[in-house]
Amino acid sequence: MQQLALAWRAAGEDVGCVLTMGALHAGHASLVARARRETRRVVVTVFVNPLQFGAGEDFDHYPRAFASDLELLTRLGVDAVFHPPVREMYPDGFRTRVDPGPWGALLEGRSRPGHFGGVLTVVLKLFSLTLPTRAYFGQKDVQQLLLVRQLVRDLALPVEVMACPTVREEDGLAVSSRNAYLDASQRQSAPAISQALQAVRRAFDNGEGDPVRLEEAALQRLGQRREMTVDYVALFDPETLARPPRAVTGSVLAAAVTLGSTRLIDNVVLGAESL
Ligand code: AMP
Repeated sequence: MQQLALAWRAAGEDVGCVLTMGALHAGHASLVARARRETRRVVVTVFVNPLQFGAGEDFDHYPRAFASDLELLTRLGVDAVFHPPVREMYPDGFRTRVDPGPWGALLEGRSRPGHFGGVLTVVLKLFSLTLPTRAYFGQKDVQQLLLVRQLVRDLALPVEVMACPTVREEDGLAVSSRNAYLDASQRQSAPAISQALQAVRRAFDNGEGDPVRLEEAALQRLGQRREMTVDYVALFDPETLARPPRAVTGSVLAAAVTLGSTRLIDNVVLGAESL
């Protein structure tokens, strides 16, 4: 992969990359389509990264659908698909880990210790292998996006990180590979997450600026669903990941809930469509 990317870059071509864990859906496709519009070369990586899964998480069961992924990516007209085996990414003797710093322990990191270290380690290695000028990330995983931006800033990586809006099902549920785990009744309940976030957005639009009251409004709506366990609802400033004294345009409201054994995340930006 690196040889190909080096040849592209040596020829002066810009390279867009989309990093994925496969089981591709409309959210991934929107990132790829944007890269296709904006960069001469497009590379998509498909790699279920064991480093970012904790013990007891769904690494073994994570949906894998490489044949249909490849079909979709061929239709989307990408220049390369990089789908390495785990032992190629992490051969015997692989020891380095990227430390995400304090942001890695917040929000998602509180429930998933080690997750962002695993994410940033694979992101850095995949950047080294694909040499992108631009990398496209979904706002659905907003903390991941912000941590990748921090990685790029802190380590002076020559990559432009592009934030892409969350693609949703018609009923508002954020499209996710993990939605495949939901049974019919859970699937019916799942749109309550985006509905709660949207309701809070409207409350903000109508003048509510108290961050705790806004969080509580979302919690209360989610709490009405018996089958849903709320992991967190958090309003934060995307520059600091801390709760601001007052909610402002650009503040992010994020939620993580568990439905059965499926953990789903979503977020909205107050007063704006996206980051
Ligand atoms: P994943 O395969 O879940 O690791 O996601 C790969 C990339 O696709 C990440 O940058 C995600 O944020 C992005 N992504 C996942 N779901 C969506 C969605 N519904 N809308 C937009 N981007 C998404």
